Amino acid sequence: MGMTVGVIGGGQLARMMIPAAVALGIDLRVLAEQPGMSAALAAVAVGDYRDLDTVVAFAETVDVITFDHEHVPQEILRELVRRGVQVHPGPDALLYAQDKLLMRERLTELGLPVPDWARVETSDELGAFLAEHGGRAVVKTARGGYDGKGVRVVSHEHEADDWFTALAEDANGGALLVEELVEFRRELAQVVARRPSGQIALWPVVETVQRGGVCAEVIAPAPGSVGRIAEVAADIAVAVAEGIGVTGVLAVELFETTDDRLLVNELAMRPHNSGHWSIDGSTTSQFEQHLRAVLDLPLGSTGARDAWSVMINVFGGPAGGVLGDRYGVALAEHPLVKVHSYGKASRPGRKVGHVTAGGDDLDDVAYQARATAAFLQE
Ligand code: ADP
Repeated sequence: MGMTVGVIGGGQLARMMIPAAVALGIDLRVLAEQPGMSAALAAVAVGDYRDLDTVVAFAETVDVITFDHEHVPQEILRELVRRGVQVHPGPDALLYAQDKLLMRERLTELGLPVPDWARVETSDELGAFLAEHGGRAVVKTARGGYDGKGVRVVSHEHEADDWFTALAEDANGGALLVEELVEFRRELAQVVARRPSGQIALWPVVETVQRGGVCAEVIAPAPGSVGRIAEVAADIAVAVAEGIGVTGVLAVELFETTDDRLLVNELAMRPHNSGHWSIDGSTTSQFEQHLRAVLDLPLGSTGARDAWSVMINVFGGPAGGVLGDRYGVALAEHPLVKVHSYGKASRPGRKVGHVTAGGDDLDDVAYQARATAAFLQE
């Protein structure tokens, strides 16, 4: 197989694959939604990933197709496979990152630990679930949710009526996912990479901190995880990767419950925010590993370079400008911190970059990273 990788989607994940591609001499091509996106540093074609002809024409220029996001429709992915295109992850796996109901069903079949859940089509069914689960639950749209959108805590059966109405108007029909409101101590993520030929590599399990449903901070490894938690998280991620046949990087988002269980929340089948620390903190970054995996090349070591790595997302950025406007102060004050800009204009709440600090003392590392991020988003 040649070494030309086509990435569908021009966001920051495609952008962060570029340095790894350059180092390995991999030719990276991106199908971006618009000109001037984060990944515009690579060879970019601009086109609609929902248009079969556009995607097929793009696929003809590469050896393997992979993704910056999970939104390419199944029909298009299946047509690519039918035409003999290498697609990683393939449609049979990606399905479970595209549809939370199918994901819950499949994980349950595989015997993996998940929150109590049900498929509900009416407010009566939601009411029945609430009655069995202490009167509170989490309702999720099966498709199209991200960063906490499409996730709602409810305590009354009519609190999801707008979503039921929208589903009823949708020609495909459909249902909502309802889950028990998990009492968790913290959220973890286990990132893993798997080659088509089966080799698997795992990074240490990390702690993720969400604010407003959006990942804000990641601590690698998760404090106190060495031993049982690390083993259980690894076993779950390997079971998911093998059970679903995932190729490339897979992130398994987990709840650590107050009664010491790990439950699977979400799956992402691409490099993930919880693995960004690995660019600076691991021998092999998740972006390099993803490229190796989708090309079916041997995987690199996933060992940590530092005792602790802390990654903080930068939201918004300097008003009316770009991250670089704050470099004078941020880089001078924190020479050990690595700053990553996604090349985006500032906008309130937008993820415009991240910073990572590494070292022996977790408090110091976290302070350095937080202070740098704070300077950058002023
Ligand atoms: P998204 O697809 O937007 O990332 P998730 O399903 O990961 O949505 O949910 C977003 C956040 O909502 C989670 O990170 C968690 O903090 C919270 N959450 C999701 N499901 C549950 C649940 N069953 N119990 C408690 N909190 C939950």
